[in-house]
Amino acid sequence: MSCIFCEILKGNLGCHKLYEDESVLAFKDVNPKAPVHFLVIPKEHINSVEAILPENMDIISRIFNVINKLAKDLNLSNGFRIVNNCGEDGGQTVPHMHFHILGGRSMAWPPG
Ligand code: AMP
Repeated sequence: MSCIFCEILKGNLGCHKLYEDESVLAFKDVNPKAPVHFLVIPKEHINSVEAILPENMDIISRIFNVINKLAKDLNLSNGFRIVNNCGEDGGQTVPHMHFHILGGRSMAWPPG
């Protein structure tokens, strides 16, 4: 099954890259919902948070380190929101685990 984020990782699709290391990529969301909206993904294809197991959960701390680094670099000092949509009811549309980081404006709660 083709995965749009794997195509980005393979270089077949472009993205506005914000950060990359051996296990994590961060790039701007193509359809931003806030003045700052980027995605942080593992390079390994993992379908969703539901597929996180003891063997691969190290990637979660790597992703959160990148989130904190980019939040500082992008001056989100007044706060930001981290969103993970998981599965159909969670509103996940790309089946490659990713965390949305939204900032630059005040966020409403609860989400729709
Ligand atoms: P979700 O609905 O949580 O699965 O989020 C998928 C996100 O990926 C959406 O916010 C899309 O705007 C974003 N997206 C889809 N394709 C691309 C792409 N080629 N480059 C950047 N963001 C994308």
